[in-house]
Amino acid sequence: MKAYYKTVLREKAPPGGLAVDDYQLLEITDVCCKRMNEALDEEAIRFGGFDREISSDNNINFSKCSPYPEGAEWDDYEVHFCPFCGKKVETEERERVVLKRVERPVTTIEIAYVEEGK
Ligand SMILES: [Zn+2]
Repeated sequence: MKAYYKTVLREKAPPGGLAVDDYQLLEITDVCCKRMNEALDEEAIRFGGFDREISSDNNINFSKCSPYPEGAEWDDYEVHFCPFCGKKVETEERERVVLKRVERPVTTIEIAYVEEGK
């Protein structure tokens, strides 16, 4: 089984450089067995970290959730081989993009309001 992902990089504030902003799953191919397919459907195993929408993790993981009153904590565990059939589980970067800060001057401001007519 192989998961292909896109790496999204962001330009850092001066002195600059690039930092990973997100890893986005593009597709999972050649799912090795029925049980793995079920585990992916149920999100018992998934690409990226379990605890947030934006992922800074580019592995296939399963996770242990520890619920606390102030919120849940997830401990992710990388999977390199299918726990059901033993076949290899891989991830590969297919695409890489850099988010750039764009500044545009504001030239027109239109404000709508009501006022008492005469
Ligand atoms: Zn399998």
